[in-house]
Amino acid sequence: MNFNTKVIHGGQHHESATGSVNVPVFLTSTFAQKSPGIHSGYEYSRAANPTRQALEDSLASIENGARGLAFGSGLAAIDCVLKLLNPGDEVISVDDLYGGSYRMFVRLFEKYQLKFTFVNFDDVSKIESLITDKTKLIWLETPTNPLMKLVDIKAVTELVKGKDILVAVDNTFASPYIQNPIDLGADIVMHSATKYLGGHSDVIAGALIAKDAELGEKLHFIQFASGGILGPHDSYLVLRGIKTLALRMQRHSDNGLEIAKYLENHPAVDQVFYPGLKSHPQHDLALRQMRESGGMVSFTFKSGKKEDAISFLEKLKVFTLAESLGGVESLANHPALMTHASIPAEKRAELGITDDLVRLSVGIEDKDDLIADLEKAFKS
Ligand SMILES: *Cc1c(COP(=O)(O)O)cnc(C)c1O
Repeated sequence: MNFNTKVIHGGQHHESATGSVNVPVFLTSTFAQKSPGIHSGYEYSRAANPTRQALEDSLASIENGARGLAFGSGLAAIDCVLKLLNPGDEVISVDDLYGGSYRMFVRLFEKYQLKFTFVNFDDVSKIESLITDKTKLIWLETPTNPLMKLVDIKAVTELVKGKDILVAVDNTFASPYIQNPIDLGADIVMHSATKYLGGHSDVIAGALIAKDAELGEKLHFIQFASGGILGPHDSYLVLRGIKTLALRMQRHSDNGLEIAKYLENHPAVDQVFYPGLKSHPQHDLALRQMRESGGMVSFTFKSGKKEDAISFLEKLKVFTLAESLGGVESLANHPALMTHASIPAEKRAELGITDDLVRLSVGIEDKDDLIADLEKAFKS
């Protein structure tokens, strides 16, 4: 099946008892058994629930994996991956990553004796020297948040081939419409389904997709034992969101490119970070690895002033000033004061998350209305 068909049909069968075309929301914690231990395959909804199961099958289908798992948040999904590891194990992670992932790694898991090294993956050959016999996981995000740096997923998975090291990719920013890390050799794909998969800013959810059934089973055991599952109603919302993922992502990408070009030509703008621009330092990699460039665009001001970024953000009307991303509506964010405030100031400076950096999640509205909104905010 092709992607446009998978988003509609993957894991989503007519319900057998009534023929219901949509997957019902199974609001139940437990399931009747015929005789002790003889049941329909469902016993207790922490282990499995039919609505969540449909979503999990859909996730596996759209990411070309063997097993999907749905969690109560993106962070609960990441937490599950880290619990594959043992004290003393080492993780090599991208340095420009989601603030909440960084916070979990450093503030929660370091105390369980996991060791994290944060590095720039621009030059994958530099990573080799960091690998030790304790390295068990490589954590990637591409494009990164908020600077839209890319990591060559295939180069990383080839580097660790034959070694006992898992490669996990947070694919939230790209979505499976744009890139499928498992096809590039990754072992685990993670999503904050809160973002593009859900797509309507109405649910917090997370996802993991495992390359093979054995790894999927290990992750399912951790999910079952730790309990961070997604509820049936939220599972339904994400499933519903996925049906329009292909349509939405194409519009997000078309609008994103238009806005990135507009910003690049604007006299008040200094740098624009968008993989679809020829000026992006890894544009060639974007062409190889990504089908489209998505809806996330970041930029800085020529003045370099924090006040300019703040007053610009205050004036936007069509764009909403809010954290999060990936919904149908356009959002604007000030990473240093909002999404990335949990990263220490000196670390932010080192990464290039300056105080005049603005991140846009370009929605699926009319592009002319979006550009007019930006233009007005620049003018005043
Ligand atoms: C939002 C986000 C997360 C965390 O997901 P939640 O659903 O908020 O827990 C992780 N990674 C990226 C890239 C995100 O944007």
